[in-house]
Amino acid sequence: MADDHATQALSCYGSRFIETSNIDKLAAEGMVFNRAFVTNSICAPSRAVILSGKHSHLNGVRDNHSRFDSCQVSFPRILQEGGYQTALVGKWHLKSQPGGFDYWNILPGQGDYYNPKFINNGSDTTYHGYVTDIITDLGLQWISSLKSKDPFLLMVHHKAPHRNWMPDVKHLDVFDGITFPQPASFHDDYSGREHLHQQKLTIARHMDVVYDLKIPCDTCPVAEVNQWARSEYRKQIMAMDTIQQTAWNRGYQQEINHYDTSGFTGDQLVNWKYQRYLQDYLRCILSIDENVGRILKYLDQQGLADHTVVVYTSDQGFFLGEHGLFDKRYMYEESLRTPLVIKYPGRIKPGLIRNELVQNLDIAPTILEMAGMNMPDEMQGRSMYPLFRAPAQANWRDAVYYQFYESGWGVPQHYGIRTQSHKLIHFLSGPGNWELYDLDRDPHEMVNLYDDPANDELIQELKQELEELRIVYMVPERPGI
Ligand code: CA
Repeated sequence: MADDHATQALSCYGSRFIETSNIDKLAAEGMVFNRAFVTNSICAPSRAVILSGKHSHLNGVRDNHSRFDSCQVSFPRILQEGGYQTALVGKWHLKSQPGGFDYWNILPGQGDYYNPKFINNGSDTTYHGYVTDIITDLGLQWISSLKSKDPFLLMVHHKAPHRNWMPDVKHLDVFDGITFPQPASFHDDYSGREHLHQQKLTIARHMDVVYDLKIPCDTCPVAEVNQWARSEYRKQIMAMDTIQQTAWNRGYQQEINHYDTSGFTGDQLVNWKYQRYLQDYLRCILSIDENVGRILKYLDQQGLADHTVVVYTSDQGFFLGEHGLFDKRYMYEESLRTPLVIKYPGRIKPGLIRNELVQNLDIAPTILEMAGMNMPDEMQGRSMYPLFRAPAQANWRDAVYYQFYESGWGVPQHYGIRTQSHKLIHFLSGPGNWELYDLDRDPHEMVNLYDDPANDELIQELKQELEELRIVYMVPERPGI
């Protein structure tokens, strides 16, 4: 699992920016879920949903400030009790200590890209190097250490490509001289969706030249939401050793020179920021893809590949300039959607793409069924196992439920429903409470159709279906408000 890996940055999802050849190999040998969504687009809540198979209001992690109760039912715990050897390495971000794992070695909080601290089964430790490589090393070392032939579960949870997108120094020259195309909604003026004027997640006004884009600039203005960012960046650089610092400074010299001599303002500056953002975000993904390749190669070499399920996903999607944004949170497609690729030798016909509506809620039930274990009644997801076999399943859900509880960054709390063709969102504060999108005609979600009387019947149907989902998932009347 990656952190904030947008489907727009995976070639098996048709990326215009990057080739992710190792994840593509996994996709070619497995199944790509083209319409996989999260239930609550932010880090800790997504992790809790994946572990528990329950929506946020039932697993207790509604936002990034909540603590996950590791004693609750989770699929790793059920596998452990069922005889699996279990481990989790990398990002945890749930405040509590992991439960249900024989071995865990996690980043504290968000963790660092360079020479990161870890908590190894409760003991503080530090590793030298780049975080994506280290997390993979820890996972492979654990598999190598297993003495028993009992089956195993290993969760490899990367920090990358989370903000502030610090690449490995060996990738700092990749994408030099490339101009990335802007997304169709890059210049969205937010008409019909006035609350978007209040968010603080724009590339233009809220992406920091120093912290995010690595250009030393004492005179560049700092947005109010980024007051913490520059001292954090100084700490990140100080945590590097001399060799890393030298390579870092050399790697960014071209970008710094370009900025210093350009005198960019207005739209030119915004486009320059977008280009710089994508360079570093995608460089981080190169390390992710390489390390997925290392795991696949290891499984091949050890003779494990033919009887090991491999799942690649992210905790949610991410905006790569769509609506002028970076970050996630919103129920809009780029944030709601998450990559999901599953290789299951002998059970999944290789190379299939599925368009059914699945969610991260379904991962726990699916893994339990693959392991031949019963799903507890309290889990709310559905096993995707029937979808592994062609053809399309008539008896599958026709809508997914979403609810976002976090406050901050000017994003209102909201909930909504997405069907194969439409999306209805209810924002709980700010001007303009409801939004309706026709996803076939308006895939970039630029036109809010809610106030068009021609849609009254459709809106009533969607509202009824939304209320039914809230009952099925046992959502409290006014949760989290
Ligand atoms: Ca995340």
